[in-house]
Amino acid sequence: MSAMLQPRFQARVHHRQRAWYFDREAETLPRERLERLQLKRLRATLKDCFENVALHRSRMQAAGVRPADIRSLQDLVQLPFTLKSDLRDHYPFGLFARPRKLLARLHASSGTTGKPTVVGYTHKDIATWAELMARSFACAGARPGDVVHNAYGYGLFTGGLGAHYGAERLGATVVPVSGGGTERQVALLQDFGARVLCATPSYALNIAEVAEREGVDLKRGALEIGLFGAEPWSEAMRREIEAKLGLKAVDIYGLSEIMGPGVAVECEAQDGLHGWEDHFLFEIVEPESGEPLPEGASGELVITTLTKQALPMIRYRTRDVTRLTRSRCGCGRTHLRIKRITGRNDDMLIIRGVNVYPSQIEAVLVGLPGIAPHYQLVLERRGSLDELTVEVESTGFASQDLEKRVSHHIKSRIGVTAAVVVKQPGEVPRSQGKAVRVRDLRPKAS
Ligand SMILES: [Zn+2]
Repeated sequence: MSAMLQPRFQARVHHRQRAWYFDREAETLPRERLERLQLKRLRATLKDCFENVALHRSRMQAAGVRPADIRSLQDLVQLPFTLKSDLRDHYPFGLFARPRKLLARLHASSGTTGKPTVVGYTHKDIATWAELMARSFACAGARPGDVVHNAYGYGLFTGGLGAHYGAERLGATVVPVSGGGTERQVALLQDFGARVLCATPSYALNIAEVAEREGVDLKRGALEIGLFGAEPWSEAMRREIEAKLGLKAVDIYGLSEIMGPGVAVECEAQDGLHGWEDHFLFEIVEPESGEPLPEGASGELVITTLTKQALPMIRYRTRDVTRLTRSRCGCGRTHLRIKRITGRNDDMLIIRGVNVYPSQIEAVLVGLPGIAPHYQLVLERRGSLDELTVEVESTGFASQDLEKRVSHHIKSRIGVTAAVVVKQPGEVPRSQGKAVRVRDLRPKAS
């Protein structure tokens, strides 16, 4: 080994020898203390919402519950839900608990229909967000002094700036490259020696592919950790990205209505995402009835914020389907874990009566011999039936019966009948950020 490689090698050994926390006390709080803190913060949040947000006040009054009635965490179920449509209906600032003049920043998500969803932050909210993102980076294995290559989109989308502030707070060196210009990204990854890559999983795959085409072997470089989120992805895709980039791919979760990225993240065990319970309350409810479900049951994730100033949220329906576990984690963190999110309720397709998430189809496709890990799902209506065509890409050595084989795999693993079209290498559009997985050509309901 050359003398130049020596310090880096030692640093790696050091990382693996003991758990490292960004905020040891908060991350390892015994459950009893954690829940006492949650209740105290919940009551303060409810009081704030009742006094400062007309919608929350009127909903609580309609439900016959006042903030003072909430005496335990179990009482949470008495509170009404908040929906994404509430944000749209009170566009732009109607749900804010602070005057606009006290806000340091606004973000917004592009609405596919109607008004965008606007979220706001006080200076303290931004500091909390940076803190939780720094915690998330450290939980995933990043350390102060690392180079963090941030390929999340900067702008109104919360991904770019959320990761940026968190990496700075951690003490890392941030490369604010944003999305696109993939050839240049490959060069910068190599030249700056990034140890950490932040991107959507689909864009990470695009980077890997461009690197391969340019003859750059990123596996032999400094990259060790990827923080991937902002779209649902499968275990198969994780293995694919890990193999192609030679890093550990870690799932990170967040949504702008709650904060942005950094609400939850996997630790090095890669077995569920630690949700930061000192700042958020997590519940699972039955999606139709809204009834709370016991720990371990699969249902819709509902989140209440505990420290947000500008935009506190009471029982926000995320539409994300998952499970929770409070079982001990080997990393020593006491915060519960959210199981991998299979999909958003809104993304669920119903094909001839069978419910299917795009990520389930991805799990079948990725890793199949002869198939590249790029795909799109095309939905059409023939008569009264919805039909699904799966467009995949061959690796260039497609055998004659490839379409039949892929179709058979989908049918036997998910139970859904799909036509399969195998395209030439490069013909399926590549992600520049959020991947377009579904092309819905069905006539719009009027
Ligand atoms: Zn853990």
